[in-house]
Amino acid sequence: MDFVLPAPVKEALAKLEAAGYAAYAVGGCVRDHVLGMEPHDYDICTSAKPEEMQRVFKNERTIETGVKHGTLTVLLSGMPLEITTFRVDGEYLDGRHPASVEFAAKVEDDLSRRDFTINAMAYSPKTGLVDPFGGQADCNKGLLRCVGEAEQRFGEDALRILRALRFSARLGFPIEEATARAAHAGRDMLQKISRERIAVELTGTLMGAHCAQVLADFPDVLCAAIPDLETLVYSDRWPHTLRTLSYTPQDPTLRWAALLLEAPRPDRPDLPHEILQGLKMPTKLCETVRKLTFYPYRDSRNGLPPIRWLLMKLGLEQTEQMLLLLEADMLALRPASSEQAIREEYQQYREELHRHLDENVCYSLSQLAVNGQDMAKAGLRGPQIGQTLNRLLLQVVMNELPNEREALMNAVHQEKKEQ
Ligand code: ATP
Ligand code: MG
Repeated sequence: MDFVLPAPVKEALAKLEAAGYAAYAVGGCVRDHVLGMEPHDYDICTSAKPEEMQRVFKNERTIETGVKHGTLTVLLSGMPLEITTFRVDGEYLDGRHPASVEFAAKVEDDLSRRDFTINAMAYSPKTGLVDPFGGQADCNKGLLRCVGEAEQRFGEDALRILRALRFSARLGFPIEEATARAAHAGRDMLQKISRERIAVELTGTLMGAHCAQVLADFPDVLCAAIPDLETLVYSDRWPHTLRTLSYTPQDPTLRWAALLLEAPRPDRPDLPHEILQGLKMPTKLCETVRKLTFYPYRDSRNGLPPIRWLLMKLGLEQTEQMLLLLEADMLALRPASSEQAIREEYQQYREELHRHLDENVCYSLSQLAVNGQDMAKAGLRGPQIGQTLNRLLLQVVMNELPNEREALMNAVHQEKKEQ
Protein backbone atom coordinates (compact mmCIF):
# COMPACT_ATOMS: atom_id res chain seq x y z
CA MET A 1 0.00 0.00 0.00
CA ASP A 2 1.51 3.32 -0.95
CA PHE A 3 0.45 5.85 1.60
CA VAL A 4 1.50 9.35 0.61
CA LEU A 5 2.04 11.15 3.92
CA PRO A 6 2.35 14.94 4.00
CA ALA A 7 5.97 16.08 4.34
CA PRO A 8 5.64 17.30 7.98
CA VAL A 9 4.22 13.90 9.04
CA LYS A 10 7.08 12.06 7.31
CA GLU A 11 9.52 14.41 8.99
CA ALA A 12 8.05 13.79 12.45
CA LEU A 13 8.15 10.00 11.99
CA ALA A 14 11.72 10.17 10.67
CA LYS A 15 12.90 12.33 13.59
CA LEU A 16 11.41 9.95 16.15
CA GLU A 17 12.84 6.91 14.36
CA ALA A 18 16.27 8.52 14.06
CA ALA A 19 16.25 8.94 17.85
CA GLY A 20 15.55 5.22 18.24
CA TYR A 21 11.79 5.23 18.81
CA ALA A 22 8.96 3.54 16.92
CA ALA A 23 6.48 5.97 15.36
CA TYR A 24 3.35 5.68 13.20
CA ALA A 25 0.52 7.66 11.72
CA VAL A 26 -2.55 6.24 13.46
CA GLY A 27 -6.34 6.22 13.72
CA GLY A 28 -8.61 8.36 11.55
CA CYS A 29 -5.95 9.38 9.01
CA VAL A 30 -5.02 5.76 8.25
CA ARG A 31 -8.71 4.81 7.96
CA ASP A 32 -9.41 7.72 5.63
CA HIS A 33 -6.43 6.82 3.50
CA VAL A 34 -7.48 3.17 3.22
CA LEU A 35 -10.93 4.41 2.18
CA GLY A 36 -9.42 6.68 -0.47
CA MET A 37 -10.56 9.80 1.39
CA GLU A 38 -8.51 12.88 2.24
CA PRO A 39 -7.64 12.87 5.98
CA HIS A 40 -8.50 16.17 7.71
CA ASP A 41 -5.71 15.76 10.25
CA TYR A 42 -2.91 13.41 11.21
CA ASP A 43 -2.33 11.79 14.58
CA ILE A 44 0.97 10.14 15.40
CA CYS A 45 1.72 7.52 18.04
CA THR A 46 5.17 6.63 19.28
CA SER A 47 7.10 4.58 21.80
CA ALA A 48 8.76 7.83 23.01
CA LYS A 49 7.55 9.12 26.39
CA PRO A 50 6.46 12.77 26.59
CA GLU A 51 9.84 14.01 27.94
CA GLU A 52 11.59 12.03 25.23
CA MET A 53 9.34 13.56 22.56
CA GLN A 54 10.13 17.00 23.91
CA ARG A 55 13.83 16.25 23.48
CA VAL A 56 13.34 15.02 19.89
CA PHE A 57 11.37 18.16 19.00
CA LYS A 58 13.35 20.63 21.12
CA ASN A 59 13.92 22.88 18.09
CA GLU A 60 10.25 22.95 17.09
CA ARG A 61 7.27 24.78 18.49
CA THR A 62 5.37 22.46 20.80
CA ILE A 63 2.16 22.78 22.78
CA GLU A 64 1.72 20.65 25.87
CA THR A 65 -1.76 19.43 24.99
CA GLY A 66 -2.04 16.60 27.47
CA VAL A 67 1.35 15.58 28.74
CA LYS A 68 -0.26 13.59 31.56
CA HIS A 69 -1.94 11.41 28.93
CA GLY A 70 1.19 11.37 26.83
CA THR A 71 0.14 13.85 24.17
CA LEU A 72 2.28 16.63 22.73
CA THR A 73 1.31 18.83 19.80
CA VAL A 74 4.22 19.69 17.52
CA LEU A 75 4.08 22.36 14.82
CA LEU A 76 6.08 21.24 11.79
CA SER A 77 6.07 23.62 8.80
CA GLY A 78 2.89 25.12 10.21
CA MET A 79 1.10 21.75 10.49
CA PRO A 80 -0.05 20.86 14.01
CA LEU A 81 0.60 17.18 14.74
CA GLU A 82 -0.73 15.45 17.81
CA ILE A 83 1.86 12.96 18.96
CA THR A 84 0.86 10.49 21.68
CA THR A 85 2.85 7.84 23.51
CA PHE A 86 1.66 4.24 23.00
CA ARG A 87 -0.66 3.51 25.88
CA VAL A 88 -3.14 1.05 27.22
CA ASP A 89 -6.06 2.04 29.37
CA GLY A 90 -6.28 0.68 32.89
CA GLU A 91 -9.51 -0.69 34.24
CA TYR A 92 -12.67 1.35 33.65
CA LEU A 93 -14.53 1.68 36.92
CA ASP A 94 -17.18 4.23 36.02
CA GLY A 95 -17.97 3.55 32.37
CA ARG A 96 -16.38 6.84 31.43
CA HIS A 97 -12.71 7.12 32.25
CA PRO A 98 -10.00 4.53 32.70
CA ALA A 99 -8.81 4.49 36.32
CA SER A 100 -5.27 4.81 35.01
CA VAL A 101 -3.38 5.17 31.76
CA GLU A 102 -0.24 3.15 31.28
CA PHE A 103 2.35 3.63 28.62
CA ALA A 104 2.80 0.61 26.38
CA ALA A 105 5.81 -0.73 24.52
CA LYS A 106 4.21 -1.87 21.29
CA VAL A 107 1.95 -0.22 18.74
CA GLU A 108 -0.31 -3.31 18.79
CA ASP A 109 -1.11 -2.65 22.46
CA ASP A 110 -2.04 0.93 21.64
CA LEU A 111 -4.26 -0.21 18.78
CA SER A 112 -6.08 -2.69 21.03
CA ARG A 113 -7.53 0.11 23.21
CA ARG A 114 -9.08 1.87 20.20
CA ASP A 115 -12.80 1.69 19.52
CA PHE A 116 -13.42 0.23 16.06
CA THR A 117 -11.34 -1.98 13.77
CA ILE A 118 -11.30 0.68 11.05
CA ASN A 119 -9.90 3.16 13.61
CA ALA A 120 -7.32 0.69 14.95
CA MET A 121 -4.71 0.77 12.19
CA ALA A 122 -1.28 2.38 12.11
CA TYR A 123 1.09 3.10 9.26
CA SER A 124 4.69 4.11 8.79
CA PRO A 125 6.76 4.14 5.60
CA LYS A 126 9.29 1.90 7.40
CA THR A 127 6.86 -0.83 8.64
CA GLY A 128 3.89 -0.41 6.31
CA LEU A 129 0.35 -1.00 7.55
CA VAL A 130 -0.12 -2.40 11.08
CA ASP A 131 -3.60 -3.89 11.19
CA PRO A 132 -4.01 -6.54 13.91
CA PHE A 133 -7.84 -6.45 14.00
CA GLY A 134 -8.77 -6.64 10.33
CA GLY A 135 -9.48 -2.93 9.87
CA GLN A 136 -8.55 -2.94 6.21
CA ALA A 137 -10.88 -5.87 5.48
CA ASP A 138 -13.72 -4.08 7.31
CA CYS A 139 -12.98 -0.91 5.31
CA ASN A 140 -13.29 -2.94 2.12
CA LYS A 141 -16.46 -4.68 3.28
CA GLY A 142 -17.84 -1.43 4.66
CA LEU A 143 -18.49 -2.65 8.18
CA LEU A 144 -18.22 -0.96 11.56
CA ARG A 145 -17.07 -3.39 14.22
CA CYS A 146 -15.70 -3.00 17.74
CA VAL A 147 -12.17 -4.04 18.54
CA GLY A 148 -12.70 -7.04 20.84
CA GLU A 149 -15.96 -7.81 22.66
CA ALA A 150 -18.46 -5.07 21.84
CA GLU A 151 -20.33 -5.40 25.11
CA GLN A 152 -17.15 -5.02 27.13
CA ARG A 153 -15.90 -2.11 25.02
CA PHE A 154 -19.19 -0.21 25.41
CA GLY A 155 -19.17 -1.05 29.11
CA GLU A 156 -15.73 0.59 29.44
CA ASP A 157 -16.84 3.77 27.68
CA ALA A 158 -20.48 4.15 26.66
CA LEU A 159 -19.65 7.13 24.46
CA ARG A 160 -18.41 4.54 21.95
CA ILE A 161 -22.07 3.63 21.31
CA LEU A 162 -22.67 7.10 19.90
CA ARG A 163 -19.31 7.05 18.11
CA ALA A 164 -20.53 3.91 16.33
CA LEU A 165 -23.61 5.82 15.16
CA ARG A 166 -21.47 8.75 14.09
CA PHE A 167 -19.05 6.70 11.96
CA SER A 168 -21.90 4.67 10.49
CA ALA A 169 -23.76 7.87 9.56
CA ARG A 170 -20.67 9.43 8.05
CA LEU A 171 -19.35 6.45 6.10
CA GLY A 172 -22.62 4.66 5.36
CA PHE A 173 -21.18 1.47 6.89
CA PRO A 174 -23.72 -0.75 8.61
CA ILE A 175 -22.87 -1.61 12.20
CA GLU A 176 -21.83 -5.25 12.52
CA GLU A 177 -24.40 -7.44 14.23
CA ALA A 178 -22.73 -8.12 17.59
CA THR A 179 -21.67 -4.46 17.83
CA ALA A 180 -25.23 -3.33 17.01
CA ARG A 181 -26.73 -5.72 19.58
CA ALA A 182 -24.35 -4.39 22.25
CA ALA A 183 -25.23 -0.79 21.30
CA HIS A 184 -28.94 -1.44 21.80
CA ALA A 185 -28.35 -3.37 25.01
CA GLY A 186 -25.95 -0.81 26.48
CA ARG A 187 -27.87 2.36 25.62
CA ASP A 188 -28.85 3.20 29.21
CA MET A 189 -25.18 3.58 30.12
CA LEU A 190 -25.23 6.81 28.10
CA GLN A 191 -26.74 8.45 31.17
CA LYS A 192 -23.27 8.39 32.72
CA ILE A 193 -21.74 10.35 29.85
CA SER A 194 -21.37 14.12 30.01
CA ARG A 195 -23.89 16.15 28.01
CA GLU A 196 -21.08 17.91 26.12
CA ARG A 197 -19.52 14.68 24.85
CA ILE A 198 -22.95 13.38 23.86
CA ALA A 199 -23.63 16.61 21.97
CA VAL A 200 -20.39 16.31 19.98
CA GLU A 201 -21.12 12.77 18.83
CA LEU A 202 -24.79 13.46 18.07
CA THR A 203 -23.90 16.52 16.04
CA GLY A 204 -21.39 14.37 14.15
CA THR A 205 -24.09 11.75 13.57
CA LEU A 206 -26.58 14.34 12.29
CA MET A 207 -23.92 15.72 9.93
CA GLY A 208 -23.43 12.31 8.33
CA ALA A 209 -24.74 11.72 4.81
CA HIS A 210 -26.43 8.54 6.08
CA CYS A 211 -27.82 9.86 9.36
CA ALA A 212 -31.47 9.11 8.52
CA GLN A 213 -30.73 5.41 8.06
CA VAL A 214 -28.75 5.21 11.29
CA LEU A 215 -31.42 7.02 13.33
CA ALA A 216 -34.07 4.77 11.80
CA ASP A 217 -32.10 1.73 13.00
CA PHE A 218 -31.21 3.10 16.46
CA PRO A 219 -34.19 5.16 17.70
CA ASP A 220 -33.77 3.61 21.16
CA VAL A 221 -30.17 4.81 21.39
CA LEU A 222 -31.17 8.33 20.33
CA CYS A 223 -33.84 8.38 23.05
CA ALA A 224 -31.38 7.11 25.64
CA ALA A 225 -29.14 10.08 24.73
CA ILE A 226 -32.06 12.56 24.63
CA PRO A 227 -35.01 11.17 26.67
CA ASP A 228 -37.13 14.21 25.72
CA LEU A 229 -37.26 12.94 22.14
CA GLU A 230 -39.23 9.84 23.04
CA THR A 231 -42.65 11.32 22.21
CA LEU A 232 -41.48 12.36 18.75
CA VAL A 233 -39.50 9.22 17.95
CA TYR A 234 -42.42 6.92 18.75
CA SER A 235 -45.00 9.08 16.95
CA ASP A 236 -46.20 9.03 13.34
CA ARG A 237 -44.20 12.23 12.74
CA TRP A 238 -40.90 10.36 13.04
CA PRO A 239 -40.71 8.93 9.48
CA HIS A 240 -41.31 12.44 8.14
CA THR A 241 -38.56 13.82 10.40
CA LEU A 242 -36.10 11.26 9.04
CA ARG A 243 -37.05 12.09 5.47
CA THR A 244 -36.64 15.81 6.20
CA LEU A 245 -33.17 15.17 7.65
CA SER A 246 -32.08 13.41 4.49
CA TYR A 247 -33.05 16.47 2.41
CA THR A 248 -31.43 19.00 4.77
CA PRO A 249 -27.99 20.45 3.90
CA GLN A 250 -25.12 19.13 6.03
CA ASP A 251 -24.89 22.06 8.40
CA PRO A 252 -25.09 21.57 12.20
CA THR A 253 -27.74 24.24 12.84
CA LEU A 254 -29.95 23.08 9.97
CA ARG A 255 -29.60 19.38 10.81
CA TRP A 256 -30.51 19.99 14.47
CA ALA A 257 -33.45 22.13 13.37
CA ALA A 258 -34.59 19.37 11.01
CA LEU A 259 -34.38 16.78 13.79
CA LEU A 260 -36.38 19.01 16.14
CA LEU A 261 -38.82 20.56 13.68
CA GLU A 262 -41.64 18.27 14.73
CA ALA A 263 -40.63 18.11 18.39
CA PRO A 264 -42.61 21.04 19.87
CA ARG A 265 -45.74 19.88 21.67
CA PRO A 266 -48.70 21.90 22.94
CA ASP A 267 -47.48 21.34 26.51
CA ARG A 268 -43.84 22.05 25.63
CA PRO A 269 -43.71 24.50 22.72
CA ASP A 270 -40.07 25.31 23.40
CA LEU A 271 -38.82 21.72 23.53
CA PRO A 272 -36.16 22.13 20.78
CA HIS A 273 -34.51 24.94 22.73
CA GLU A 274 -34.76 23.04 26.02
CA ILE A 275 -33.14 19.97 24.46
CA LEU A 276 -30.25 21.91 22.95
CA GLN A 277 -29.63 23.90 26.12
CA GLY A 278 -29.65 20.64 28.04
CA LEU A 279 -26.89 19.41 25.73
CA LYS A 280 -24.98 22.66 26.43
CA MET A 281 -24.88 23.54 22.75
CA PRO A 282 -23.58 27.02 21.77
CA THR A 283 -26.09 29.79 22.54
CA LYS A 284 -26.25 30.95 18.94
CA LEU A 285 -27.22 27.48 17.72
CA CYS A 286 -29.85 27.13 20.49
CA GLU A 287 -31.41 30.49 19.62
CA THR A 288 -31.37 29.93 15.87
CA VAL A 289 -32.98 26.51 16.15
CA ARG A 290 -35.57 27.97 18.49
CA LYS A 291 -36.61 30.43 15.79
CA LEU A 292 -36.37 27.97 12.91
CA THR A 293 -38.66 25.53 14.68
CA PHE A 294 -41.09 28.17 15.96
CA TYR A 295 -44.41 27.26 14.44
CA PRO A 296 -45.78 30.49 12.91
CA TYR A 297 -42.63 30.99 10.84
CA ARG A 298 -42.66 27.54 9.40
CA ASP A 299 -46.32 27.14 8.63
CA SER A 300 -45.31 26.77 5.01
CA ARG A 301 -47.76 24.01 4.25
CA ASN A 302 -50.43 26.69 4.04
CA GLY A 303 -48.21 28.80 1.83
CA LEU A 304 -44.94 30.50 2.68
CA PRO A 305 -45.31 33.88 4.42
CA PRO A 306 -43.99 36.81 2.32
CA ILE A 307 -40.21 36.80 2.09
CA ARG A 308 -40.06 40.37 3.36
CA TRP A 309 -42.04 39.37 6.43
CA LEU A 310 -39.57 36.54 7.10
CA LEU A 311 -36.71 39.01 6.65
CA MET A 312 -38.32 41.35 9.18
CA LYS A 313 -38.81 38.56 11.71
CA LEU A 314 -35.57 36.64 11.21
CA GLY A 315 -32.96 38.78 9.44
CA LEU A 316 -31.03 37.69 6.38
CA GLU A 317 -29.02 34.71 7.64
CA GLN A 318 -31.93 32.99 9.35
CA THR A 319 -34.27 33.64 6.43
CA GLU A 320 -31.82 31.81 4.17
CA GLN A 321 -31.63 28.97 6.69
CA MET A 322 -35.42 28.90 7.01
CA LEU A 323 -35.84 28.55 3.25
CA LEU A 324 -33.44 25.58 3.17
CA LEU A 325 -35.22 23.92 6.07
CA LEU A 326 -38.72 24.46 4.69
CA GLU A 327 -37.59 23.19 1.31
CA ALA A 328 -36.40 19.96 2.95
CA ASP A 329 -39.68 19.76 4.90
CA MET A 330 -41.69 20.13 1.69
CA LEU A 331 -39.52 17.65 -0.22
CA ALA A 332 -40.09 15.14 2.57
CA LEU A 333 -43.81 15.75 2.52
CA ARG A 334 -44.43 15.40 -1.20
CA PRO A 335 -43.99 12.46 -3.54
CA ALA A 336 -40.60 12.27 -5.23
CA SER A 337 -42.22 13.14 -8.56
CA SER A 338 -42.61 16.78 -7.54
CA GLU A 339 -39.02 17.18 -6.30
CA GLN A 340 -38.01 19.27 -9.30
CA ALA A 341 -40.99 21.62 -8.91
CA ILE A 342 -40.31 22.18 -5.21
CA ARG A 343 -36.64 22.88 -5.81
CA GLU A 344 -37.54 25.41 -8.48
CA GLU A 345 -40.12 27.06 -6.23
CA TYR A 346 -37.55 27.53 -3.46
CA GLN A 347 -34.94 28.71 -5.93
CA GLN A 348 -37.41 31.45 -6.88
CA TYR A 349 -37.87 32.40 -3.22
CA ARG A 350 -34.11 32.74 -2.92
CA GLU A 351 -34.01 34.91 -6.03
CA GLU A 352 -36.80 37.05 -4.63
CA LEU A 353 -34.85 37.39 -1.38
CA HIS A 354 -31.78 38.61 -3.21
CA ARG A 355 -33.83 40.94 -5.38
CA HIS A 356 -35.17 42.54 -2.20
CA LEU A 357 -31.63 43.00 -0.93
CA ASP A 358 -30.37 44.40 -4.24
CA GLU A 359 -33.25 46.87 -4.31
CA ASN A 360 -32.57 47.73 -0.69
CA VAL A 361 -36.23 47.21 0.27
CA CYS A 362 -37.18 48.07 3.81
CA TYR A 363 -37.49 45.16 6.24
CA SER A 364 -36.08 46.62 9.47
CA LEU A 365 -36.76 49.67 11.65
CA SER A 366 -33.40 51.17 10.74
CA GLN A 367 -34.48 51.28 7.07
CA LEU A 368 -37.84 52.87 7.77
CA ALA A 369 -38.24 56.40 6.32
CA VAL A 370 -39.35 57.73 9.74
CA ASN A 371 -37.80 57.36 13.19
CA GLY A 372 -38.49 57.90 16.87
CA GLN A 373 -37.87 61.65 16.71
CA ASP A 374 -40.52 61.98 14.00
CA MET A 375 -42.97 60.13 16.24
CA ALA A 376 -42.16 62.42 19.18
CA LYS A 377 -42.71 65.48 16.98
CA ALA A 378 -46.08 64.03 16.02
CA GLY A 379 -46.95 64.02 19.70
CA LEU A 380 -46.45 60.34 20.55
CA ARG A 381 -44.95 59.43 23.92
CA GLY A 382 -43.22 56.48 25.61
CA PRO A 383 -44.11 52.99 24.44
CA GLN A 384 -46.47 54.43 21.81
CA ILE A 385 -43.42 55.40 19.77
CA GLY A 386 -42.02 51.88 19.42
CA GLN A 387 -45.44 50.34 18.90
CA THR A 388 -46.27 52.79 16.12
CA LEU A 389 -42.92 52.33 14.39
CA ASN A 390 -43.35 48.57 14.44
CA ARG A 391 -46.86 48.84 13.07
CA LEU A 392 -45.66 51.11 10.27
CA LEU A 393 -42.83 48.68 9.47
CA LEU A 394 -45.29 45.82 9.21
CA GLN A 395 -47.51 47.85 6.87
CA VAL A 396 -44.52 48.72 4.69
CA VAL A 397 -43.35 45.10 4.64
CA MET A 398 -46.85 43.96 3.66
CA ASN A 399 -46.94 46.60 0.89
CA GLU A 400 -49.84 48.43 2.52
CA LEU A 401 -47.84 51.65 2.73
CA PRO A 402 -44.89 52.94 0.70
CA ASN A 403 -41.67 53.53 2.63
CA GLU A 404 -41.95 57.29 2.18
CA ARG A 405 -41.81 59.87 4.91
CA GLU A 406 -44.87 61.83 3.88
CA ALA A 407 -47.11 58.78 3.50
CA LEU A 408 -45.95 57.36 6.83
CA MET A 409 -46.45 60.67 8.70
CA ASN A 410 -49.91 61.03 7.17
CA ALA A 411 -50.78 57.57 8.45
CA VAL A 412 -49.59 58.55 11.95
CA HIS A 413 -51.61 61.78 12.00
CA GLN A 414 -54.67 59.99 10.62
CA GLU A 415 -54.42 57.38 13.35
CA LYS A 416 -54.12 60.06 16.06
CA LYS A 417 -57.22 61.79 14.79
CA GLU A 418 -59.21 58.58 14.93
CA GLN A 419 -58.24 57.87 18.53
P1 ATP B 1 -12.47 12.09 12.76
O1 ATP B 1 -12.17 12.09 11.31
O2 ATP B 1 -13.91 12.25 13.07
O3 ATP B 1 -11.60 12.98 13.59
P2 ATP B 1 -11.10 10.03 14.14
O4 ATP B 1 -10.98 8.56 13.88
O5 ATP B 1 -9.84 10.82 14.06
O6 ATP B 1 -12.19 10.58 13.17
P3 ATP B 1 -11.33 11.01 16.83
O7 ATP B 1 -12.54 11.18 17.65
O8 ATP B 1 -10.56 12.21 16.41
O9 ATP B 1 -11.79 10.19 15.53
O10 ATP B 1 -10.39 10.00 17.58
C1 ATP B 1 -9.08 9.64 17.10
C2 ATP B 1 -8.81 8.16 17.31
O11 ATP B 1 -8.75 7.88 18.71
C3 ATP B 1 -9.89 7.23 16.76
O12 ATP B 1 -9.62 6.88 15.40
C4 ATP B 1 -9.80 6.04 17.69
O13 ATP B 1 -8.74 5.19 17.29
C5 ATP B 1 -9.39 6.65 19.02
N1 ATP B 1 -10.53 6.95 19.92
C6 ATP B 1 -11.14 8.15 20.06
N2 ATP B 1 -12.10 8.10 20.99
C7 ATP B 1 -12.11 6.84 21.47
C8 ATP B 1 -12.87 6.16 22.47
N3 ATP B 1 -13.85 6.78 23.15
N4 ATP B 1 -12.58 4.86 22.69
C9 ATP B 1 -11.59 4.24 22.01
N5 ATP B 1 -10.84 4.81 21.07
C10 ATP B 1 -11.09 6.10 20.78
MG1 MG C 1 -9.66 12.97 14.59
